[in-house]
Amino acid sequence: MNPFKYTRATEPATAVRAAVANGRSMYIAGGTNILDLMREGVESPTELVDVHGLALTQIKSTAVGIFLGALTKNSDTANHPLVRQDYPLLTQAILAGASPQIRNMATNGGNLLQRTRCPYFYDISQPCNKREPGTGCGAIEGINRNHAIFGWSESCVAVHPSDMCVALTALDAKVHVQGSNGKDRILPFGDFHRLPGSTPEKDTNLQHGELITSIEIPKNNFAASSYYLKVRDRASYAFALVSVAAALDIANGRIKEARVAMGGVAHKPWRATAAEKALVGKAPTEANFRAAADAEMKDAKPLKHNAFKVDLGKRAIALALKRAANGGRA
Ligand code: SF4
Repeated sequence: MNPFKYTRATEPATAVRAAVANGRSMYIAGGTNILDLMREGVESPTELVDVHGLALTQIKSTAVGIFLGALTKNSDTANHPLVRQDYPLLTQAILAGASPQIRNMATNGGNLLQRTRCPYFYDISQPCNKREPGTGCGAIEGINRNHAIFGWSESCVAVHPSDMCVALTALDAKVHVQGSNGKDRILPFGDFHRLPGSTPEKDTNLQHGELITSIEIPKNNFAASSYYLKVRDRASYAFALVSVAAALDIANGRIKEARVAMGGVAHKPWRATAAEKALVGKAPTEANFRAAADAEMKDAKPLKHNAFKVDLGKRAIALALKRAANGGRA
């Protein structure tokens, strides 16, 4: 590990100032991903700005929705009574991720900023455009069973690892950030993460030094009919092969509004807009759920080793929708 400077921030403005002043600085909060990246030589910041002591840990409900502090731990967020009651999809998604020990350390802001678990990214002897732009992509002709089937480019076929972010995509969350000019800005969740294009080294649309302060989830009518389904190689402590966040607003036997997002299939949480469109106005039947899944998956572009994700994705969407319509029960 390379030597680095350690700066402990006492308020958001000083954290942002310190980070902006050093173009090779990074924030650290729970440290559940950045420390691994530094140990493996994937990241070599010259300064860590420690934000974990900042007062950004509140969860509060307002007239427009709920605000989750950027530094609230994932476990505290998942188990908060307001989240459990009004946003059970988020609780399910967070509890599907990582392990209890990691969720006790990891923060909400850090969850959004975690990096892909593509093994070529972590192996510094391999080419990787994300780690070292211009070196190539080890995965595209390598072992790509766990990689993308949507939105990938010749530069990168990695997938985003978060479960929480899949639920936040379906729930149309917004990310509040504080910038170097002292002004806040709000990014719609769908604009927060990026597809790889020709710049896979950039995971998000944050500017250097911008600090996530909170995540807002607008009020919705999905609490009674939502479900997070995660398909993985083992029952816990594994990333998704495919996951689906499904949320329905059903009235008078028809679907008024549908939200579907997928994990494990793209460089960012994948909003399944074709599936959503296919569901609106329809009865919540298995046939309609299967048709919506087919509509979403028809444009998938699998790689050599992950064609199985197309059929798995169809089944996962249909099953998540069925369980959502069934009151979130398996
Ligand atoms: Fe690197 Fe992306 Fe290729 Fe993985 S898929 S080796 S992260 S460029």
